[in-house]
Amino acid sequence: MSLKVCKFGGTSMADGNVMNAVKKIILSDESRRYIVVSAPGKRFGGDVKVTDLLYACYEETERTGACGSAFAKIRTRFESIVKELNLDMDISSVLDETECRLNREKSRDFTASRGEYLSARIMAKLLGAKFVDSEDVVFFDENGRLDSEKTYKAIAKAVSGAKLAVFPGFYGTDVNGKVKTFSRGGSDISGAIVARAVGAGLYENWTDVSGFLACDPRIVENPRRIKSLSYKELRELSYMGANVLHSESIFPVRKANIPIVIKNTFRPEDEGTTILPISQYKPEGNVVTGIAGKKNFVVILIEKSHMNNEVGFVRKVLSVLEREGVSVEHIPSGIDTMSIVFETEQAEGYKLERVLEGIKDECEPDVIRVMENVALIATVGHGMSSSIGTSARLFKAMAEANVNVKMIDQGSSELNIIVGVKNEDCDRCIAAIYHEFFR
Ligand code: ASP
Repeated sequence: MSLKVCKFGGTSMADGNVMNAVKKIILSDESRRYIVVSAPGKRFGGDVKVTDLLYACYEETERTGACGSAFAKIRTRFESIVKELNLDMDISSVLDETECRLNREKSRDFTASRGEYLSARIMAKLLGAKFVDSEDVVFFDENGRLDSEKTYKAIAKAVSGAKLAVFPGFYGTDVNGKVKTFSRGGSDISGAIVARAVGAGLYENWTDVSGFLACDPRIVENPRRIKSLSYKELRELSYMGANVLHSESIFPVRKANIPIVIKNTFRPEDEGTTILPISQYKPEGNVVTGIAGKKNFVVILIEKSHMNNEVGFVRKVLSVLEREGVSVEHIPSGIDTMSIVFETEQAEGYKLERVLEGIKDECEPDVIRVMENVALIATVGHGMSSSIGTSARLFKAMAEANVNVKMIDQGSSELNIIVGVKNEDCDRCIAAIYHEFFR
């Protein structure tokens, strides 16, 4: 029987009731053996996630030297979970130790990581499972990237002989022995790392939705659910804003061809969405798999006669951006023109001015223009490469919705078409493309 790694997200940890439902899910299948958990999420609209409370704790520590009143909220939250679960666990002592260490370490990452730590301690107790602290088994290298070899070995060793083990998601240890977190939503990555380390047959990611939808339900009412996706499609869609799963989660599992399934803790019988390597992926016959969009990009448009003959021109432009530490998303180009696309937060105000001045001085373009407040919309699907007329349909739908196309970029894999539109046209554009392909 191939084993499963299950990651439960914040809403699956929100209170004692849901944690009991999680326990039932885990115990209903013997192959669910290694569990990764997030910090408790929102219990109702307007509630605050534990991780956000912890960031507030850190701010209080910065301001006053200790995290007294902000930590009180964390304390109440975890004490009530233990009470709801009727668990024989001395959570007060664990919380006391945690508060002491927070005040001692005064580290933003360490503080943020305690939500996962505490929920994993409780979940391990609830299941009678081994608790494995990610601090002892997940390691980052000197560049802040996962030290995969060391991590996989440590995890495999930690679980050997354990029938059931629980890991806190979201964090590990850096080269200086300090706790470091992944980016927000990073427990998904932790789950993928554990799946890879133990050679899982399946990585189940339990959340509060029944899988990926073909587009954002806040834009189109009741969009179609995607039954299966390839790793590549997932990466494109989640990178572009479909936030069911962290876009980095595929890297650990992809090399080992471990499928991921997105499941709903609140509707466990729903089939969910399965994410598979391309070799195992069976398209559902749709041209387009999904559409996702992200707002707030900047586009720099550069024109220079004979640009194409000038050896090193692109390098010169990019070296200005590199010097300013700007990470570039896309570089669509034409004869004598190129555009550079990056997220607005990468270069605002003076930094953007410096980038523009640098390009003017060092590359001497004939024309340089800036377009701000641009949204990028990715239409993604393996079916697109073999289906004639896809882009015609896409652009016709946009024209009919009166959306002006600012930029077009088609990836070389023909897996996606990315269009740039004004921020304010973004939702209308997504809806128009959705209706064209899923009508
Ligand atoms: N608790 C962290 C966050 O809110 C990590 C996670 O939930 O995956 O971002």
